[in-house]
Amino acid sequence: MQSTRSRLFAFTIFLCLGLSVQAGAQETRLKWFGHSAFSITTPNGKVLLIDPWLRNPTNPEAKDKRDPLASLTKVDYILLTHGHRDHVGDAVEIARKTGAVLICNPELAGNLVKLADFPAKQADTDAIMGIGGEIQIADGEVMVAMTSAVHSSSVFNPKAGPNEAERAYGGNPAGFVIVIKNGPTIYHSGDTAYFKDMETIGESYAIDVALLNIGGHFGMEPRMAAKAAQSLRTRLAVPHHFGTFPGITQNADGFAAELKTLKIAFYEMKPGETVSFRGRQMLPAKTTTSGRQTGD
Ligand SMILES: [Zn+2]
Repeated sequence: MQSTRSRLFAFTIFLCLGLSVQAGAQETRLKWFGHSAFSITTPNGKVLLIDPWLRNPTNPEAKDKRDPLASLTKVDYILLTHGHRDHVGDAVEIARKTGAVLICNPELAGNLVKLADFPAKQADTDAIMGIGGEIQIADGEVMVAMTSAVHSSSVFNPKAGPNEAERAYGGNPAGFVIVIKNGPTIYHSGDTAYFKDMETIGESYAIDVALLNIGGHFGMEPRMAAKAAQSLRTRLAVPHHFGTFPGITQNADGFAAELKTLKIAFYEMKPGETVSFRGRQMLPAKTTTSGRQTGD
């Protein structure tokens, strides 16, 4: 009798522990490193890095001569929207350090291998894709769709010289829709200008969070970025690509005001901040000072 009771007790503890681990595991984490660099950690613990310029001047982990790559141990995938330096960023070094697989267009992948010594094996997999394509990654936990972007794409050539151009072909620029099982659907705009066909992206995917470039000059000005949020039918708009260097918009106030008139929810992350999602729902931010939130 006693042993049955203790077995039952042990089983109950086991069940409770299991459930609590399960509950924690159901969260998706989204971190912003400043500029256009984000990481997504899925409920199963896979890590995706998008446009990883981690050594950008707004990343708190890069301040005081600290190296933001030092603490980066696990990265499974690196997604690049296009070849410009503020988006390729530290991708080569991160790939070498972590073994991460590259997701981008074939021309960009080829030239990163050829010109920047990106590890060839990690850039030559079935994760190389084109606009309009959808791929399953992370053992089927994540679907990545590559979407159009109106911008340009070239790869900086560190081997440039008198007979070699400073910029090489980087294929077409892109955006990504990332659909996470038991998590949110996240859109990353890259550096695109507004285009009317964003409505088709919004019709094709139920976007929970749109990460939108708002800095203007090289991409969308805040007013058009708000229009993009509307066309994409996103539940929440999060700004990026601003305040990093001269020439682009320095804060998100104008974007927030435009979204307010359109009644679209807005959340401004601070560089270095992580937000979590349970299922498709963003959990309340842990600190009230770290971000501004409007809408529902
Ligand atoms: Zn850019």
